[in-house]
Amino acid sequence: MATIFSKIVNGEIPSYKIAEDENFFAFLDINPLAKGHTLVIPKTEVDYIFDLDEETYMGLQAFARKIAIALNKAIPCKKVGVAVLGLEVPHTHIHLVPMQSEQDINFANPKKKFSPEELEAIKNQIAKAL
Ligand code: AMP
Repeated sequence: MATIFSKIVNGEIPSYKIAEDENFFAFLDINPLAKGHTLVIPKTEVDYIFDLDEETYMGLQAFARKIAIALNKAIPCKKVGVAVLGLEVPHTHIHLVPMQSEQDINFANPKKKFSPEELEAIKNQIAKAL
């Protein structure tokens, strides 16, 4: 069965897509820890990041780097934090979280609420900075 993230890649489930290429896809986290919280995934369905083959792993990191550089330009923040948990969705994803302080990347925090219009605007801002 396809993962929820494969359904996003295939367009069966909507997402706030920031970028994609042949192998990778980036979109806004729907329950963000901070404005601009983005997920970067490989299109292949592999649950655990360290089970990816080396080429896909390195490609994913390079793709995430491009997105993080755009995030830094688009969203006021000190740095973009990087986290990999994967405890909920069994499809590798890197969290990119624009941070003002370390509190912003505490996954125990209540999630931020943005309207669909705000998420659309945030997505466009990041995509424009790519
Ligand atoms: P984890 O697997 O623990 O890294 O958490 C999964 C992450 O995916 C959470 O931050 C969720 O908010 C996010 N997420 C789950 N479903 C969606 C979706 N349909 N669109 C965007 N983000 C999602």
